[in-house]
Parts: sequence; C-alpha cells; structure tokens
Amino acid sequence: MMKKILIIGGGFGGVFTAKYLLKALPKSISNDVQIELISQHNYFVFQPLLPEVSSGIINPHDAVSPLRTLIPKIKHRLARVQYIDTKNNKVQVLQGRNKKLIEIEYDQLVIACGQKSQLNLPGFAQHSFSMQNLSDAFLLRNHVLKCLELADVTLDKKLKQHALTFVTAGAGFSGVETLGELQDMVKRALKYYPNISLNEAQFILLQRGERILEQLPESLSAYAHKKLLKRGVDIRLHTGVARANRDYIETSEGEKIHTLTTITTIGSAPLDFIQRGFELQRGKIEVNTQLQVLGHSNIWALGDAALIPMHNTKGETEYAPPTAQFAVREAKNLAYNLSQHLTGKTLKPFKFNPLGVMASLGAYQGVAQIYKLRLSGIVAWAMWRALYITKVPGNIAKIRITLNWVMDYFFPRTLVQIDTDKNELVEYMHFSKGDVICQKEEVIGYFYLIVSGSVLCENEQGSHTLKSQQHFGADKQKQKNHHDFQISALEQTKLLCIPWQNFALLRQDFKQFDGLFE
Ligand SMILES: Cc1cc2nc3c(=O)[nH]c(=O)nc-3n(C[C@H](O)[C@H](O)[C@H](O)COP(=O)(O)OP(=O)(O)OC[C@H]3O[C@@H](n4cnc5c(N)ncnc54)[C@H](O)[C@@H]3O)c2cc1C
Repeated sequence: MMKKILIIGGGFGGVFTAKYLLKALPKSISNDVQIELISQHNYFVFQPLLPEVSSGIINPHDAVSPLRTLIPKIKHRLARVQYIDTKNNKVQVLQGRNKKLIEIEYDQLVIACGQKSQLNLPGFAQHSFSMQNLSDAFLLRNHVLKCLELADVTLDKKLKQHALTFVTAGAGFSGVETLGELQDMVKRALKYYPNISLNEAQFILLQRGERILEQLPESLSAYAHKKLLKRGVDIRLHTGVARANRDYIETSEGEKIHTLTTITTIGSAPLDFIQRGFELQRGKIEVNTQLQVLGHSNIWALGDAALIPMHNTKGETEYAPPTAQFAVREAKNLAYNLSQHLTGKTLKPFKFNPLGVMASLGAYQGVAQIYKLRLSGIVAWAMWRALYITKVPGNIAKIRITLNWVMDYFFPRTLVQIDTDKNELVEYMHFSKGDVICQKEEVIGYFYLIVSGSVLCENEQGSHTLKSQQHFGADKQKQKNHHDFQISALEQTKLLCIPWQNFALLRQDFKQFDGLFE
C-alpha cells in the first residue's frame, strides 16, 4: 500500500530531508512511497544571506530558490500548517486565497518548520524589525532608505537624529551581521545624500551578555568587537531591551534611545501550531538521538524546531545548536533513519562534529574558526563567502549570488526605495450578485461591515439576509474559528473589512467598541 511521508517546512531541514530521502529510499519501496512537502512559501531561503539582502548587496529574488525547481520530484503544497493531529495522523493546513482548511493524512511526518523570532517584549512586534525571512530583509532595506530620504530633507534636527539612529538588539550572528552590513550600506549610500554626514549616523549594538558573538572563541569575539568599535559602532554590553515604542526603545537600564529603526535578533520561539501540538522542552520538540519525536514513532523532527540530544566524548548530553550546518547533517541522518524504519532495519544516532563557525562583519571583514584554525579580517570574510556559495542549493542560485557580489564590488548599490507601507487596518471589498464572500467552514479572516448592498448567509439549517450597516465575522472565539454559513452577495455589495487580528485588538482595548458586539 502507498505510504505517505509528509514534510513540514521548505528550509534547510525540510529541503535537505527531501533530497536525501530520494537517495536513501531503496528501489524496492520507493514506488510505494509518496513524499509531499508543505511550506508557507514556494521558495527556499538561504537565511545566512539575509543580512546581505537587507543591505542591498543581494537582490531578494536571488537569495531564494523556488522549491519546484530545487526538488522537482517532490510534491509541493503551498499552505500554512495550523495544527498537527497526532492521534489521527493528520495535518490541518490553510490553503489558497480564501484560507480554506484542509486535512492531509500522513504515515510518516517530518517536522522542519524552524522557529519564529522572539518578539514577546512589549512593543517589539509592532515597532521593530526581525531578521528571519525574506520579507524581513526586504522591509528593513526599504525602511532604512526611507530614513535616509527623510533625514536628508527634514528641518527638524531631532527627527533627523532619530532617523539616523539604527539600533540592533542582540549580538549573536544575525544581529552582528545585520548591523555590520547595514552600516556599510549607509556609508556607501551617503555619497548621494548631500545633507547627511557619516558622523551623524549612529549604530548601536545592545547585548545582554558580556561579549558579542558568544558562539565564537573569546579571541575572535574580541577581534570583532574591536573592528566594530573602530568603525564607530556603539557597543553596549550587559544591556538588554525592555520595551519598544513608536519613537524610542527602552533598555533594561531604563535608558531611552530615540530611533526609527530597531532590529531585534534576541532569540527565537516555537511556532504556535508546535506549541499547541506538543509538550516542549526549552521551547523545542524533544526527539531521541535517532530524531524521532518522543512518544511518536512515526513523527520525526529536526533543525531549529527540534531539541536534539548528542552525546559528547565524555558521555555527557549536549544539544545540537540551531544552525544551517547542523540542520543539513540532521536531514541526512533523518532520511537514512526514516528509510531504515520503513524497511524494518536498525536506526543510527545523530552525531556531527561541526567544521567551524564564521561570521561576516560587513565592509569586507569577517571572523572564522575552521577546526582549530582562527582567522579574521578580509581572509575570514573571503572564506565566509567562498564556503557559503558552495552551500547554496541549486547552481542557478549560486551563479546569481556570485554575480550580485561581483556587481556590488564594481558598481554602486541601487538606492531605489520601494514603498512597502500598506494600510491594512481597514479596506473595502466589492462583490457582485452571486459572488461567494466566505465559504462555510472557512477560517474567519476579517470582520465585515456591509456598507451597501446585502448578503445571504446559508447553511444546512436555513438562511438569513444581512443588509447595509449589519456585519458578520465578529464572533470569532478561541473555540470557533470558522464561518458557520456560506455568505454570498445578493446584489452589488460593498464591504468594509478589518483583518481579524486588528479587529481583535480594537475589541480587546476599546471596551465601548467591544460592547457593540456583545
Ligand atoms: C539572519 C540569519 C543568519 C544566519 N546565519 C547562519 C550562518 O551563518 N550559519 C549557520 O549555520 N546558520 C545560520 N543561521 C541559522 C540557520 O539559518 C537556521 O539554523 C536554519 O535555517 C534552520 O533550518 P530549519 O529547516 O530548521 O528552519 P528554516 O530554515 O527556518 O525553515 C523553516 C521552514 O518552515 C516553513 N514554515 C514555517 N512555519 C510554517 C507553517 N506554519 N506552515 C508551513 N510552513 C511553515 C518556512 O516557510 C520555512 O520554509 C542564520 C539564521 C538567520 C535568521
């Protein structure tokens, strides 16, 4: 009978598991196995290059590879996972423009969905940038250019200073790399902004720990610190962040730093559907050394989402770090074990000695440790690029990225600022007679007020009509996420629509408004 392997996630863990599975599955069973990969994007993101996307060295399109060309033999489903029903071996996903809820069955499940940025401090979700996916990098780049445009023309000195203050919270790899690249980008761009001088731009790196790049040996971390200081970065150790407001952030010391740009790289957190479906340890799904989720012999997990024990030479338990390097090795091990599991053979524990670590500081500077060799400066930076290009999956992506680097070396970067602001708080939608606005059982995505026209709500129990100034979609509760009715336009109808998250905030904080819907 056909067996289905379902992989959640099109990042390092998911894509490489799929690739290795195609090789690992023996011919005797490969015709009876279907592999499907679900991802909320139809492309693979090479996350280590995101800081270079945010600084405009690499075009957003060139830092990603379409999953369909990367793993053409794997069935791909563009959808967002909502829930894993481990009792019935089903995954619930939202799919398509109307976010229809679909259930997909599996025999074997591989969870490689990564984590989300930790933005749970007050105000950070609204007033800071994260650096996790392509849109984060794209938004940050456009925002920084917008700040430069503003600083160049405003007569308000304070506003100019705030627009030219760039704060990064968290001095791990992604924080340091993003700030380093950003500073380089601003420096190069200022040539074209005659009213801004370089010393007006301020770059602040906040680190709660006692040194930056704590993953690196002390000597390399000290080298990076010295280099960044020399470039004018204001590094503040033992300083965390407490809250973010529209115009400033507050540090753990109570200091207010006025800025229009805060980048948060202070850690990651489990995705909501993982939190709902599993008991977590350290915010991750606990697996055994063979990468099987504890208590579920047909569910596997790897990458940033998984807590993977490894035994060191002293027999002590350590956990695999959340890096791309590890995720790729875990994928190889997982594909082997899954194939062994399907053929009733012995599984092997995950072991890996990393090759080393490296980080770019921007402006042709880097730090690296390869086995016992420690490198810094331009040599480390060149090695960083050389190694990463070999790791980018897909030859076309490799060529594109190399061309981006060459272009960046010889030519100025583009200063095109694309307006990314979209007023999503309220929008109008128009429907003609007979148009279905919401399907029954569809997830409630908006609150709808009928501005003009009328709609028919119908289900098996009956139907009713709603007219101008009546509304629907207000009653989404934790228990009830879906429309009970199919709702369609009875005539030309104009609706005022508020995305549900925004509507929920209004109800939560504006009690009189909330009272309208009791
Ligand atoms: C800025 C930055 C720089 C980094 N630099 C380095 C580096 O230099 N070296 C290094 O080794 N590591 C680096 N890392 C870490 C590395 O990128 C991660 O460890 C690695 O990506 C983890 O792989 P993963 O497959 O677990 O998760 P990811 O690569 O994050 O992939 C998760 C996948 O799941 C999908 N997904 C998420 N939620 C859902 C959902 N609900 N439904 C469907 N699909 C979903 C996502 O779209 C994505 O395709 C960096 C990370 C960042 C953010």
